[in-house]
Formats: sequence, structure tokens, C-alpha cells
Amino acid sequence: MRVGRFAPSPSGPLHMGSLITALASFVDIKQRQGLWSIRIDDLDQPRNDPDATEIILDSLTKHGLNSDTNIVYQSQNLQNYKKAISQLSSSLFRCVCSRKSLAISPIYPGTCRDKNLSNSNASIRIKMPDEKLAFIDKIGGRIEVNLAKEIGDFILVRRDKIFSYNLATSLDDGDDTITDVLRGQDLLPLTNLQIFLMNELNLQPPEYAHIPVLCYPDGAKLSKQSGAKPLNNETPMENITLALKILGLKNPPIYINSVFGLIEWAINNWDINNLPQKFQPYQ
Ligand code: GLU
Repeated sequence: MRVGRFAPSPSGPLHMGSLITALASFVDIKQRQGLWSIRIDDLDQPRNDPDATEIILDSLTKHGLNSDTNIVYQSQNLQNYKKAISQLSSSLFRCVCSRKSLAISPIYPGTCRDKNLSNSNASIRIKMPDEKLAFIDKIGGRIEVNLAKEIGDFILVRRDKIFSYNLATSLDDGDDTITDVLRGQDLLPLTNLQIFLMNELNLQPPEYAHIPVLCYPDGAKLSKQSGAKPLNNETPMENITLALKILGLKNPPIYINSVFGLIEWAINNWDINNLPQKFQPYQ
């Protein structure tokens, strides 16, 4: 059985960009008779909004997007992340570099790699080998990077002791149950490193599809940080119709009068190869 997932962070309500990703992953997996699972990426306590999870789940329900599995909360998987850290321990090192001191080099320069620091007030990084790792993205094709040169030693546990997005996502997406990850292209550059981690932990990477990201006319991505408008839950049919249009589907027939009808139609008409290379700017 194939299982796809949608993994919002509860830092604010959903916006049009997140609806597009949720809808595409839903329709794509359902077309293949798979299940769709919602995971709440709630590890980043300082950025979590206490009301957001409920608002996000309510918004998804109003748009006909219900999880086929129990909702997964990363905050309930802490033991798994901890176990992975001990499994990987021989490749890990502590790092006390400030973000500011690293700001000039996009790739971590290895400052603390061989220092053997024991500071408890440090982040934990993983040593990346000087090797290439490639995967096939269903949309982007073959993506190959040199792990050391193009990604560099990256953080698994933050200085504030929070497990990093990359660690948690690799473990949860590498879980036996998840077979398909469809998400925004902004996460494409992180995929090779997530697959690297899954390989190190003997987990099976899912199949990936990275779809375009919805942007404003000035090219900025819609995001909670950029103040994207929350979805209006009173107009789910209009929202879904617009999302389908942006995803490159033709107009659904006008006799369809429910979100479920729209989604059913979309499942029958979805073709990942018809996605536009770039989405129309969102006004
Ligand atoms: N929680 C991440 C976000 O909201 C999604 C990560 C993912 O799909 O891998 O950006």
C-alpha cells in the first residue's frame, strides 16, 4: 500500500501555497489508491503557535483533506530521534560556531570538526563524506550532489537541544509506512542530505516529487513569515478551484457542488507531467 504525507509546521494557519501542496500530495497518492497521512512537524517549540495545529487540521477538514491514518506528531517521536543520534554517534561532533560566524560561508567550513569539544552548550553536526549521492525526483529528474562540498556537515541537534528538521523528517519519512513524499521545490536542496541520513540509519527512502512553490509577483515565496493571508475556510470550493488551476488542471465542470466532488474530479484528471514548470504569481 502506498502512503503519502503532508507535514505542516504549526507556526501559523495554512495559506494558498500550503493548500496547493496538500492538495497535490492528496490527489497524487489517491490516484494510485494510496493513503494520505498528516504529520504535524511540531519540534520547533519557539516557532510553534499554540493554536496553529487545531487551525491547520480544521482548515484541511473544511477543504476535504482528511488523514487516513492517525495524525503523527513529531513531538511524540522524541525517543526515535534520540536513538538515531546514538546510532550515528561515531560520525557526530559538537560545534559552538555562532550563526553569525558562519554567515559568510554557505557551506560549513569544518571549524569544530576535529576539536572533540565536550561543551554541552553546543549543536551536534554530522560529518559529511566527500561522496556523491543522487536520487531521481519525479519532476526534477536526477539530482546529484557532492555531500561534503555542496551540503557540508549539518546540524542534527540544535544548540537549544531541539532535534533538527532534517533529522526528524528523515526518520519519519524513512519510516516503513511512508512511500511517497510530494512537497515544495524549496525543500529539494535538502533531499539528498535527508536520503543520506536514511541510508546511514538503514531506512528506506520514499519516492520524491518536488512541485513548484507559489510566489508573489515579486518572486517572494508565500509563507507564514512573509505574512501570507490565512486560507478563508468559508470558501473551500473557490480555494480548491483556484489551487487546481494553479496546479495546471483544466476547469472542473460547473455541476460539481462540493469539495469532495472537486477532489474526486481532480483525482481522475491529475497528471503530474502536466504541472507547470512554474506557478503563476499569486496576487
Ligand atoms: N514542516 C515542513 C514545512 O512546513 C515541511 C517539511 C516537508 O514536507 O518535508 O516546511
